[in-house]
Amino acid sequence: MKIVFATHNENKIKEVQKIVPEGIVLLSLKDIGCTEDIPETGNTLEENAIIKANYITNKYEYDCFADDTGLLVDALNGEPGVYSARYAGEQKNAEDNMDKLLSELKKHKNRTARFKTVIALNLNGKQELFTGAAEGEIIKEKKGDGGFGYDPVFKPTDYNQTFAELQLAVKNKISHRGKAIQLLISYLKK
Ligand code: IMP
Repeated sequence: MKIVFATHNENKIKEVQKIVPEGIVLLSLKDIGCTEDIPETGNTLEENAIIKANYITNKYEYDCFADDTGLLVDALNGEPGVYSARYAGEQKNAEDNMDKLLSELKKHKNRTARFKTVIALNLNGKQELFTGAAEGEIIKEKKGDGGFGYDPVFKPTDYNQTFAELQLAVKNKISHRGKAIQLLISYLKK
């Protein structure tokens, strides 16, 4: 069975290909000749994941799944949320995004936050959603140089290190994306 993972990030595809059940071949957008950026015009992570999966299924007629992730900060009413990648502007720069977040949080006591990943799967004419979350807090200064995005400022609950300091295997086990992908894999194994 062939399923498209609607992402331009080849690393994400490699990661997930390693853990999908035997017999499932993941195709990248490049593999199916989709070079355009899929519009992410939704107001929620769910909407964006669905928009991306439906775009591929409707235009290219493939079964497909797509993910969308955001960092939801309680004191900022869930911001940056769906705008996490471009929080500090269209340059989508991780350092700028973290600087803006740390500056916004200076006036707040509550620093609790969570990463949330939603995966939308279109398979055999049916749509399923899978959600994974990682609870934690935003620390006051960046720490660690692993990972990407907001990892240096996010400390998961029950850990003393940020996502950027933890081993990748540890992060993958407890992360929002790791949990959502495990739910997807369990469903595909049924
Ligand atoms: P995407 O939906 O996976 O492209 O994620 C959107 C944005 O959320 C990224 O550009 C990052 O800023 C942030 N993000 C997603 N996943 C992570 C993560 O695991 N750690 C830190 N930041 C992340």
